[in-house]
Amino acid sequence: MDQSSIDALAAAPVGPQGLFIGGKTVLATGSATLPVTSPIDGRVLTLIADASAVDVDLAVASARAAFDSGVWSRAAPAERKKVLHRIADAIEREALALAVLGVRDNGTEISMAIKAEPGSAAGTFRYYAEALDKVVGEIAPTAPNVLGLVHREPVGVVGAIVPWNFPLMIGAWKIAPALAAGNSVVLKPSEIASLTLLRLAEICAECGLPDGVLNVVTGMGAVSGEALGLHADVDVLVFTGSGGVGRRLLEYSARSNLKRVYLELGGKSPNVVFADAPDLRQAAKVSAAGIFRNSGQVCVAGSRLLVERSVHEEFAAMVAEEARKMKVGNPLDLTTQAGAISSEMQLARVQGFVDKAHEEGGALLAGGARILSETGGSYFAPTVFDHVTPDMTLSREEVFGPVLAVTPFDTEEDAVRMANGTEYGLSSAVWTSNLSRAHRMVGAINAGLVHVNTYGGADNTVPLGGHRQSGNGHDKSLHALDKYVNLKTAWIQL
Ligand code: NAD
Repeated sequence: MDQSSIDALAAAPVGPQGLFIGGKTVLATGSATLPVTSPIDGRVLTLIADASAVDVDLAVASARAAFDSGVWSRAAPAERKKVLHRIADAIEREALALAVLGVRDNGTEISMAIKAEPGSAAGTFRYYAEALDKVVGEIAPTAPNVLGLVHREPVGVVGAIVPWNFPLMIGAWKIAPALAAGNSVVLKPSEIASLTLLRLAEICAECGLPDGVLNVVTGMGAVSGEALGLHADVDVLVFTGSGGVGRRLLEYSARSNLKRVYLELGGKSPNVVFADAPDLRQAAKVSAAGIFRNSGQVCVAGSRLLVERSVHEEFAAMVAEEARKMKVGNPLDLTTQAGAISSEMQLARVQGFVDKAHEEGGALLAGGARILSETGGSYFAPTVFDHVTPDMTLSREEVFGPVLAVTPFDTEEDAVRMANGTEYGLSSAVWTSNLSRAHRMVGAINAGLVHVNTYGGADNTVPLGGHRQSGNGHDKSLHALDKYVNLKTAWIQL
């Protein structure tokens, strides 16, 4: 990866996009479109199709027809495996172009996007290609005159709704296991970042995925997302995004066909630093990266830093120094460490949280304001507030931006109470040299992920899912496959 190849790819115009239904790119009803604004410079990059409920109907019908035909759902696992491997290969071949397209769409710095987007998506397709013929049914331990067989069957049509922060990575977390299990999929990307997922659908078709097995409907969440959520012929809904929309999906299910709903939601993840952390300087660097990479637009971001009082002042100063040193700017520059905020709306939201933190008595140590407005893009300085008490808004609500709340604690019990003191339970970390304490903290923190002496970097071999209001179900690992299968018992009298 070199800067000149990135620059060449970034100079290419991006043509208007359609929907991807039945293996073809098609216009939305009435040719409705939405502009795509790049957060790099605030300019319109291209147009995407704005799907209506009628378009969603067509996409679901196409997915259902493909499923019922058996062309994929009843294909030999070895055949499905070949296609998923080909998709992984193709993503790898096109990795830089995909990464650049995604960065132009959502503003993630390219150094992170290349690994987190095509890198991760290729790995996910490969993981489920390998997994699909190793997950087997069961023969139950019944009485000898009965045979109890437990079959695992694809569920049918999966509706997948994903956010803008890592569209390709999160899209692959849903699409790859759903396809591996034999389902058909209708994917609804975020209206803020759809481009890489539209290209992924074409790649899948080029690699031999039969028509109709993967369909993509772009457009507004409140229209096409709602239509997908309410659709009576969607069997499972998988979602990554905000808690507010997650709640709506549960309602859609209740109001329609009681489809299963799996939610990966937000977090306010605690990063707990004890005075006996192995290396405070290193902990400060990793903690800063754990909140400021992708400008904090990371579901598992360590947005609450809880620090043992004896090292609190020193550690807060180190993290603030890391924040000030961070290179924020054009996300297409290979040396940039934090790119743009995905949209002006999101930037205004971040500013709102900063204003509130000032009002409520937080002590600003770094950042606190919009920067680089002369570029026309949406950039915000990595921001650190100290002395944020647990009742303040910044301790309780997810910003989804580059804003860190620092709070001192006195005892391990205090740390656990504070760590568990929000409605969320997505990610967390503990920094300590004391092995017993590390294990105690892993047990005591109520979250789907507890890092010890690091932050971030978990791979496909382990599940990611939230506790409490951070969601239900899991992406990644063999556990994710459970969302995409029905168990069926055959009870056979011998
Ligand atoms: P969002 O909830 O606004 O949107 C997510 C998706 O839902 C988009 O595709 C959107 O179009 C769609 N949508 C919006 N309104 C809808 C409606 N009424 N009906 C159906 N669909 C609708 O989330 P976002 O702003 O795109 O992403 C940020 C959120 O995602 C944060 O809360 C973040 O923590 C969360 N997130 C969680 C994870 C995880 O793995 N737990 C990962 C990434 C992001």
